[in-house]
Amino acid sequence: MAPRSVPGTCLLCREPVKKRGVLRHVEECLASSGWPAGEKPSLLIRVQGRRDPSCWLVVVARADATLEDLDALIRDAWSEGYGRMGAFTLGSGEETGTAIPLGRLLSPGTAFSYECNAGQATRLDLKVIGTAPVLPPKSPICPVVRSTSPLIACLRGPRSPEEAKAWKAMDAICDDLDPEIRRTLEQERRERGDYAASIAKDIVIPFCVYMCGPHGRAVGDWDGPLAKACLLQDMAENPLPATGWVENAVPVLCRFVTCLQESGRIRDADGIIAALTGAEAAFRKAATNPEKFRKLSRRLFAQALDAGVNPDDRNGLMAYLMQEVILMLGLDPDNEIVRRELADLVQGRVRLPTAGEMRADRILLICEEFCSRCGIPALAEDCSRLVDALAAHPAAPLTRGDAVLWSAAIVYAASQDAGLTREAKAMVGGFFGLETTSIRNKVRALRKYLPKEPGARG
Ligand SMILES: [Zn+2]
Repeated sequence: MAPRSVPGTCLLCREPVKKRGVLRHVEECLASSGWPAGEKPSLLIRVQGRRDPSCWLVVVARADATLEDLDALIRDAWSEGYGRMGAFTLGSGEETGTAIPLGRLLSPGTAFSYECNAGQATRLDLKVIGTAPVLPPKSPICPVVRSTSPLIACLRGPRSPEEAKAWKAMDAICDDLDPEIRRTLEQERRERGDYAASIAKDIVIPFCVYMCGPHGRAVGDWDGPLAKACLLQDMAENPLPATGWVENAVPVLCRFVTCLQESGRIRDADGIIAALTGAEAAFRKAATNPEKFRKLSRRLFAQALDAGVNPDDRNGLMAYLMQEVILMLGLDPDNEIVRRELADLVQGRVRLPTAGEMRADRILLICEEFCSRCGIPALAEDCSRLVDALAAHPAAPLTRGDAVLWSAAIVYAASQDAGLTREAKAMVGGFFGLETTSIRNKVRALRKYLPKEPGARG
């Protein structure tokens, strides 16, 4: 469909308007609107989705309105207001001050763009299409024409059939609980501000999805034990919680549960609140455990190595990590704001590993896979100690030789130290596809780098 012919509706006279003739219509309609004349002319700004220009909006903005006002209006129209403030980019390519009056910033013909991460990414193109002598009477900026296509359709679509399926399931859950979610988020925003509301959204929605999804329980059947399991097993696994997410999770969920109770959706609100509150300390500990993030980055760096990223190329490594985290979180990798917000989050938590550390991590990952596949997860701890000792050795033995052979030798040595039976040791060769003789030779080489321990059998 040619974007220029996409229809919309004038919000002043309720007549259908085509995008092509929108300026003339708006000028005429505003002239007969009875709105007061201003000292300076107002700006007519067209806003449209970059990916889907059939979603569009024309607003009239007073000359003293600001980008902040425009941001608030856009977020309200496109994402129901729950996202964080987005960023405008004017011709210079730079982000610009949000408190400067639009009349000083823009003039007819100015084109600019807007990006925000409102749960999903929104990218919009804006253009000043004209001016009008009147002032919108109620607010600094007022929408006057909007497209017939729902604005929400501008958000990016799913990237794979699996993602589409997951989104559909999530949508069904969110639709069912929509009134309560909305009421809770509205209350958060009223009492605690925009940022708190956006954090609350990132708490309440995953909670609902986990409670209804993997645990498969309709909202009427939610109870304390389920809420506790969801908090400790699922919510605590959030790989990159935003600032305030961990601290606010339980208080926000308790307020949400109260809201569900008020509308008669759940039976045992008190039991759920007691379970959530009782598990809060354990949740905070699990959610902020540095080990969790270390494990995640270890896995990602091992992947980077497999993907052929040079471990000495620090920028390349960081770029790879960011890309993977963005995909993992289901965000739009092309969105600058997403990248920037994530970079802030990742900063301070990630110290890029050295080539030697990456290699050690990779060797340990292979050991861990053996331990978990062969049903001896406890052995992973021993492997981890051996890897740490070898990695710390000044001769850096792990940086040389085949990684798989190192892993096999480490697992074998750990089995010996743990006094595991002959059969367990025999599994090592089979699992790694290596001759027992070469593993044994490697074990002997390995032991030379370890401090002598009493009880260790060679
Ligand atoms: Zn009209």
